[in-house]
Amino acid sequence: MRVAFLGLGAMGAPLAGHLARHYETWVWNRTPSKAESHAQQYGTRAVSFEELGEAQVLLTCLPTSVDVDAIARQLLSSLRPGTLWIDHTSGEPELARATARLLAERGVDYLDAPLSGGVAGAQQGRVTVMVGGAPEVVERARPILQVYAAHLFHVGPLGSGHAVKAINNALLAANLWLLGEGLLALVGQGIDPLRALQAINVSSGRSNASENLFPERVLNRSFPLTFTLGLLDKDVRIARSVTQRSGTPAPVLGLIQEFYTLASRELGREVDHSAVVQLLERWAGREIRGSFEDPSEGSRG
Ligand code: NDP
Repeated sequence: MRVAFLGLGAMGAPLAGHLARHYETWVWNRTPSKAESHAQQYGTRAVSFEELGEAQVLLTCLPTSVDVDAIARQLLSSLRPGTLWIDHTSGEPELARATARLLAERGVDYLDAPLSGGVAGAQQGRVTVMVGGAPEVVERARPILQVYAAHLFHVGPLGSGHAVKAINNALLAANLWLLGEGLLALVGQGIDPLRALQAINVSSGRSNASENLFPERVLNRSFPLTFTLGLLDKDVRIARSVTQRSGTPAPVLGLIQEFYTLASRELGREVDHSAVVQLLERWAGREIRGSFEDPSEGSRG
């Protein structure tokens, strides 16, 4: 089977690399040089946009659903009935359903299948996939997704994958923000943030932010760029629209969305999402610093 992967960004490039070990894998990227170096590195084939319609399965991992919809419209006339389109973008449920309707007119099956697990998960071939779509289409996609899915959840009809992913990332955003507020308050009281995190991480307030993001990105001041603040801001906006469309009161999520929009304006959309803490640090006039390198830390005192 011939699969084509569109969008060789931080997530897409390693995923397409995994596919190449199991399927004939074509790659396309807006900036063609990335597709050419991907072909050299992973044994994929860099193809022109016009050739993409020849693939039996198309996979997209682009910034937004607007980008996916635009690509679908440009490709539409070259797509064959029976093609499967798996969209790994963290996208918008409503627009994805509209794209799916458009593709269905050509006999193309679409699934929204956003990912979690970050760049490390994509590189290791251990991502979580949340899929929305018809059950028989999910079954067609399953062998492909299993190439890099550590966990695969069919969460409901079209658009459900995007909705679940948006709420997941709203939780990530909220945890990151609240832990920043909390640790700054503790630092202000003279408490070592490293000790505080060690306690929290074996207690009920722990999260991905406390277990991974703060130790690996904030306390050591590295803020490595793997997932941009702009993309997380986009996800929180989608989560807010999910609550609004279902008529669900969500005042705290509304605040979180406003803070992330403000932070991406102040810090720029291209910094790592963990850098959002820097805005809180500016407001507080102090920083959250520490090192997990001392092996005695865990047992001290
Ligand atoms: P990147 O910015 O690293 O890559 C984006 C990719 O999309 C690039 O290949 C880029 O091409 C391409 N692209 C951008 N705009 C367009 C366009 N208008 N038309 C065609 N191609 C375009 O993003 P990520 O890989 O980080 O994220 C991709 C998706 O995955 C997002 O929806 C994100 O929210 C989600 N995600 C990201 C995670 C992460 O940790 N990074 C984790 C889980 C989900 P070019 O090379 O030309 O710029």
